[in-house]
Amino acid sequence: MSQNAKARRSIRRPASVSGTGLHTGVATEATFLPAPAGHGVVFRRADLSGKPEVPALLTEVEALERRTAIGHGDRTIHTVEHLLAAVAALEIDDLTVELTGPEPPIADGSFQPYFEALAKAEPVDVGGEPTVLTVAAPFTVTEGDAAYVVAPAKALRLTVTIEWAHPLIGRQSGTYDVTPESFARDLAPARTFGFTSEIESLKAKGLIKGATSSNAIVLDERGVVNGGTLRWPDEFVRHKAADIVGDLALTGARVRAHIVATRPSHVGNVALARALSRAGKRSGVPRMDIGRIMDVLPHRYPFLLVDRIIEVEGSQRIVGIKNVTINEPFFQGHFPGHPIMPGVLIIEAMAQVGGMLLMSHFEGQDVDNKVVYFMSLDHVKFRRPVLPGDQIRFELEMIQFRGKTCKMKGTGFVDGQVVAEAEMMAMVADR
Ligand SMILES: [Zn+2]
Repeated sequence: MSQNAKARRSIRRPASVSGTGLHTGVATEATFLPAPAGHGVVFRRADLSGKPEVPALLTEVEALERRTAIGHGDRTIHTVEHLLAAVAALEIDDLTVELTGPEPPIADGSFQPYFEALAKAEPVDVGGEPTVLTVAAPFTVTEGDAAYVVAPAKALRLTVTIEWAHPLIGRQSGTYDVTPESFARDLAPARTFGFTSEIESLKAKGLIKGATSSNAIVLDERGVVNGGTLRWPDEFVRHKAADIVGDLALTGARVRAHIVATRPSHVGNVALARALSRAGKRSGVPRMDIGRIMDVLPHRYPFLLVDRIIEVEGSQRIVGIKNVTINEPFFQGHFPGHPIMPGVLIIEAMAQVGGMLLMSHFEGQDVDNKVVYFMSLDHVKFRRPVLPGDQIRFELEMIQFRGKTCKMKGTGFVDGQVVAEAEMMAMVADR
């Protein structure tokens, strides 16, 4: 039932998990707080002045060695993957996670304390449409030793294989259909693991300051140290499968695909999440709908070429969508019987998304009386034709911003493939 849920979900009441961070060793309380539909999953550092917020999104990924860290500088949040796996497994779309320190508690090294806290907080429908990522055709992702095959599926299914030259691990494989029930039963209790042989080198890098034999499975050459026992003989692969669930949560969407992962790592999982974000089709509540876009952009039919803004990262990055249909007026003459979107209009659509990014600098000001002019285009490249039925995903990044002028780099993708790219200079002027 939950796999077909139509509404976004948050929680009914707050819940907390307290303990020590695995890598920082700092005592922290993580408190889940209800959030309204469309809010997304957002961390809040209550220990810092101004209580800065960091959305759980790929754009925030900061570090990937032995953990997934998001945010930047002193607002970095380490080891978010176990907490986020529980959030994603319960299909919670909107949530504030308030932290009193830099890293959610590692607890027993598993996902279970977070899963149980969230289950007690009672996931509840909050309306709106969940953002769902699906793929239309299979593709592969490789990153270092990690390899993934992604295939279309109606729900999230993981087939994971790991290999370690250790008597308790060797080669382990498992397939998991990720639902709240199966996650609770088959994955949530699986603990993270590490080897005594690598303790010194990880500590030298400033990692695992909070590690003990009660918050991870610690292995020496023969077995589990201190006579610890495993929860399953294949607890290791189960943990790695659940880590993937947590890292995929950074797409900001519910992922519906069959993922076959071999030797997954956090670096690999994040590369997978990025590839899914690019190649996948995203449905659900936009970050800015067409009404909001029309508030900011003066363009109107047939020249308004942005349908939705799906990601905004401050004034640094924006992602917009244009759904290209056969009903576009330009297809009537470009060309009869052979419809191709004119390249200059692809660039115009990209520029309109860029205009939204530039205008976001003036948020809260009188944007009605401001207008964006484009001053130059550089390095324009058309990589492949755009046809009726394509969904173009425009990603724009601010390269430089001075006063009222800026330089942006834009890339357009269809099904994960680059269709066009350009660098553009623009300025904001009063009307
Ligand atoms: Zn983990």
